[in-house]
Order: sequence, then C-alpha cells, then structure tokens
Amino acid sequence: MPDTYRIIEACLIGGEWVKAPDGAAIAVVNPFDGARIGEVPRLGRQETRAAIAAASEALGPWKAMTASERAGLMNRLADLILEHKEALGRLLTLEQGKSLAEAVGEVAFGAAYIRWFAEEARRIYGDIIPSPWPGRRILVTREPVGVVGAITPWNFPNSMIARKLGAALAAGCTMVIKPASQTPFSALAVADLALKAGLPPGVVNVVTGQAGEIAAEMCENPVLRKISFTGSTEVGRRLAAQASAHLKRTSMELGGNAPFLVFDDADLDAAIAGAVASKFRNSGQTCVCTNRFLVQAGVHDAFVARLKEAVAALKLGNGLEPGVAQGPLIDEAAVEKVAAHVADAVAKGGQVVLGGRRAELGGRFYEPTIVTGARADMAVAGDETFGPLAAVFRFETEAEAVAMANATEYGLAAYLYTRDLARAFRVSEALEYGLVGVNEGLITTEVAPFGGYKDSGFGKEGSKYGVEDYLNLKYTCLGGLA
Ligand code: NAP
Repeated sequence: MPDTYRIIEACLIGGEWVKAPDGAAIAVVNPFDGARIGEVPRLGRQETRAAIAAASEALGPWKAMTASERAGLMNRLADLILEHKEALGRLLTLEQGKSLAEAVGEVAFGAAYIRWFAEEARRIYGDIIPSPWPGRRILVTREPVGVVGAITPWNFPNSMIARKLGAALAAGCTMVIKPASQTPFSALAVADLALKAGLPPGVVNVVTGQAGEIAAEMCENPVLRKISFTGSTEVGRRLAAQASAHLKRTSMELGGNAPFLVFDDADLDAAIAGAVASKFRNSGQTCVCTNRFLVQAGVHDAFVARLKEAVAALKLGNGLEPGVAQGPLIDEAAVEKVAAHVADAVAKGGQVVLGGRRAELGGRFYEPTIVTGARADMAVAGDETFGPLAAVFRFETEAEAVAMANATEYGLAAYLYTRDLARAFRVSEALEYGLVGVNEGLITTEVAPFGGYKDSGFGKEGSKYGVEDYLNLKYTCLGGLA
C-alpha cells in the first residue's frame, strides 16, 4: 500500500465521524487492479437529514463571521491541502487511477480554488441604486443562499469538490457533500483537513451512500436551499427536475462533446500538443476532453501522422509508477463504452490508425486509439466516449467545420487551431460553447468561469462569477430620509 493520506472510512456530520447505523458499507477498489482499498458508510435519507441539520446549525455563526475571518480559515485549509499534496495525490491515484503527476496537479488545483475564493470572499460587494423617489435610498446587498448540497463525480475527486466548497464558504454558506461512491476518500480527506484548519463543526459535512436517497433528501428538505451538481447530463436532468419541484436553486455542470478544430493554417506543433493534452488527460475521462477532432483536408494526413506518433509514446500502467501517462479507466462499463464506440466506428467505415483494442495490461485498460474517417452517423459523433478514443473527422470549409462542431446538444468546451486572427475570432464567436480554447488545449483555471451551454448545464464555477451562484441579491428600500 503506498504512503497515502489517511483512509477515512466514516462520514463527517456536525464535526463527528459516523458510520451507518446498520453497519452497511460500500467497498472502494483500486481501478488499476481491482484490489479493495477500504469502505465507506452506505448512508441514506436519515443521515442526510442529520447532515443538513448540522449545516443549518453552523450556518448562522459562519455567515456572521467577517469575510476576512472566513478567508483566514479557508487559506489555512488551502495551506494544509498543499502541505499534504503528495499524500493526497497518492490517495487520489489509488482510488481513481490517474497518473500521480495528474493527481498531485489536481490536488494543487483544488487548493488554488479554495485560495481564490478566500480572496474573493472580501469582494462580495453590494450596490446603491439612484432612487426614483425623494427621501428614499435603494440598497442592494448579497447574502449567502444558506445550506448547499454538492454532488460530485469520480473523475476529479478533489477539485470538483474544492471549486464548489470554495465558492460556498466564501459566500457564507455551509455544505453537505455527497462524493462519487467510487472515489470518496479524497473528499473525506479534504473534510478532515477542513476540521484541522479550524472550520467550525457542521460547516463542511460529507455523506456517502445511496445517491438517489441522498439526492431526494437534498431536494425535499426545505432547509437546504441549493444543489450544485457535477456529473452526467442524464442524472443532472433528473436531479434538476426533482429540485425544481421543490423550488431549489441548482447549478448543473454536465457532460460534453468537445470539438477540436484544426485549420490548414494551424501551427501543427501546438495543435498536436493541445490534442494530446485535451484528449488523453485522465485517459480521456474529463468533461472537457476532446471527443471529435475536426481537421481540414489540407493538414488532415499530416495531423493524423503526428498525432499517432505522439499518442503511441504514452505509457500505460499503474498511475503510481513514474513515467506512466495513462492509468486505467474507472470501471469495466467505461472500457465497454470505448470498445463499443470503436466497434461502431469501424462498422461504419472508420479506420483504426492506432490501438483499437483492450490493452495487454488487461483489467480496465484500453489502448489509446485513433480512428479516422469518422462521420456524423457514428456513436462517437453524438455521445461523449469518456475514454481514450480520438475520432478524426475531415472537413473542407470553415462554415462546414462550425456547423459540424455545433451539431450536438452539448456545449461545454471547444478548441480551435488557426494562425488567422480574424478566423480565430469568427469561429470562436460562432461556437455554441461555454469555454473555447484558441490555440490552447488546456484552459481550465480557478480565475476563469467554467460552465456549459445547452445540455451541458448552467451555472459557473471558478472566477468572480462562480461565487454568484451561492448568493441571493437583497433589495432594501430605506424610506423617511427626506
Ligand atoms: P454520474 O453518474 O452522473 O455521477 C455523478 C454523481 O451523481 C455521483 O456522485 C453519483 O453518485 C451521483 N448520482 C448517481 N445517480 C444519482 C441520482 N439518481 N441522483 C442524484 N445523484 C446521483 O456521472 P459520472 O459518471 O460519475 O461522471 C461522469 C460525467 O460527469 C460525464 O458526463 C462528465 O462529462 C461529467 N462531468 C462534468 C463536469 C463539468 O464540470 N461539466 C466535470 C466532470 C464531469 P454514485 O457515485 O454514488 O453513483
């Protein structure tokens, strides 16, 4: 067993570590070899209710603190995360599978979100609006929405939580976090560090267990005022409907189907570097991963040849081993989805240029794969593969490329490579996506707003806009001032 951050097999409710009353638990395994790492409690509605009550009790004192007091505690949390970043990274790799370099990078990114929002806590300003009435003043202030529920996925077990938690804490909200069942230990470790940083009990709570039950309690409990969800569009759609029945505010960070456009005038060195980074990070399991490479005819063959060379060099293996770039996929279903997309593409005339099969390592490994001749009727065109398949579509004109890029219900991230400044503006403005990388394949940062259009959801995370999702605007009219 690697030297990881402490594995905590209990949930945090009101500052107490708790197990399921009936001892029920969910086993957590290492996706590299299926070995059992530990277990977490299988909690349900009752414990979620208790966590919401604890968060509600902590809310008053937390929001009454000055912004700089809250920021001080948040900065202490960020410091502790960074102090333990190697051990937290090893824990993350153990439960999630990604390379250690990526895992440690994610932990540092999580700390960066907490730090950014700690700074932002001091800048939650209001307004005074010129009054249409003599003798009155119009004040607008921002107030925390209250207790927030966060439901997060397995692909970024640390940073997906940090960017919700940071914004919530800065705004003066308290939180109940339900992490993904496959990667709960990173969440529990952050909660442990929050306690060590001095955040009062009940400000951060973590419940693991039955997703449907926990979510139902979050939606129906009148004390909880907002739900922030990151995960699949399918679950997000259901959750948004359930939450709207109870008039809960929601933020939805959902699936993507990112296009990566390479024009004839692109800098191919930059395009290849961006292609590898945007497609194969976390073995293709990020919501902003390229799903469709759209390449103009003039550079198509050169792009494919160079992409093949770069991708063939990626080393597969245990994420904890030095030099490994590609870890396993999260589970067997993920491997089957990649295999199904490849088989569908081949059946419809696609050519496998690289990979195209399960890796010799066995288990949850699939070889990094490139398929050319991709077409709109293939499964990969409409559905996020969420794995190491690079599907290459060919196009002739700019208008055709934009139409292909937008021909999806998703709208999270898009990338384009061109050296023509006018085209860079024209195309990025025509792309119906919440994030656009022009000549860059990795663009997520805590200082910029992250969030999708269309079926990729709504709400923003990170940046000065991210905190708005956790605030209510209050209008106060002061009269009798004539
Ligand atoms: P998922 O199946 O939707 O799961 C996400 C979370 O929702 C997990 O905590 C899961 O709990 C929970 N959940 C499952 N069923 C639920 C239900 N009926 N009600 C409420 N919550 C429920 O997604 P995933 O497979 O873990 O994550 C991959 C997806 O997330 C991809 O589509 C990806 O694009 C998207 N994603 C989006 C962003 C973004 O910022 N836009 C970022 C990362 C990932 P259990 O683990 O207990 O099942």
